Amino acid sequence: MKTARIYEYGKDLVIEDVEEPKLDENGVIVKIEGAGFCHSDLHIIDGEIKILPKLPMTLGHENAGIVYKVGKNVKDLKEGDKVVVYGGWGCGYCDFCIKGEENLCIRPNWVGILNDGGYAEYLYVPHERYLVRIDKLEPKIACIYADAGLTPYRAYKKIRHLLDGESYVLIIGCGGLGQFGVKIIKALTPSKVIAVDINDEKLNKAKEYGADIIINSNKENPLTKIMEITNNLGVDASLDFVGSNETLNLSVVSTKVGGKVVQIGLAGGSANLKILENIRFEVSFEFSLWGNIKELRELLSLAENNIITPIDVEFYKLEDINRLIENLKENKIRGRAIVIP
Ligand SMILES: [Zn+2]
Ligand SMILES: [Zn+2]
Repeated sequence: MKTARIYEYGKDLVIEDVEEPKLDENGVIVKIEGAGFCHSDLHIIDGEIKILPKLPMTLGHENAGIVYKVGKNVKDLKEGDKVVVYGGWGCGYCDFCIKGEENLCIRPNWVGILNDGGYAEYLYVPHERYLVRIDKLEPKIACIYADAGLTPYRAYKKIRHLLDGESYVLIIGCGGLGQFGVKIIKALTPSKVIAVDINDEKLNKAKEYGADIIINSNKENPLTKIMEITNNLGVDASLDFVGSNETLNLSVVSTKVGGKVVQIGLAGGSANLKILENIRFEVSFEFSLWGNIKELRELLSLAENNIITPIDVEFYKLEDINRLIENLKENKIRGRAIVIP
């Protein structure tokens, strides 16, 4: 089968033919229809995150497709079913896995990062619990719910108890995840959304998706504007999809008493928390990671019912994956890029 593999950090991916993955009795082989390309893939390929257990490897952790073969112990899926692949594979028996929080597993086995992933024609999935069947959605687009949709959905669940009719949510970073963040907050809560980015095109997209106020932080001081809008109280919750020093500090100083900051972006910054200075009383701070299987099921059910619709996507053939990477580096991709094997 055709695949795109990383042989060396900092180099182009290599398109090559490899053997199809082998099936075992609990496993499922999925024919990939679409694999979303994530910004974290870029950090991995460039060697900024040297997380891969071996080289070469096939990346791709945002996958969906058609069930191609099922092992003899598989109960609920059959050949031809359309499925989205949950990517945060765990060990299945540590305390986190037992609680259903496989994304936090102490011995993670993530697809496309710690195991071969979906930039290939076929993907081996070790257990059917990692597959969520879809009905109306098309796998080649639905793949983006596995990460770009799931990650902000989990972050939303960490703040939803704070959001009533009078509330504000600050969303920093309006790339794919931030755009889904806007959609999720607007569809599922009565909150007003303040979106901050440095790119007007992305901000206009956030507005189209329902953001009430957009702020280009290169053009105006976001904190002044946020305090003006919220009568100097601050926002009820901040979702930081960037994670730089600057955005983390903006998240902290913008959040009101009793509010919450959720950090999602992996830009590697640090938040400088000065008690009685820049952080208000009882503001909590949480680092949200990806999502669990139950959350993916919930999100896909919202998507099947048209409550959370997809962000814009662009398709690239597997052979063109290095062009996709170039375009992403040059900031030419709006929304999410999807690899089609
Ligand atoms: Zn990702
Ligand atoms: Zn585990």
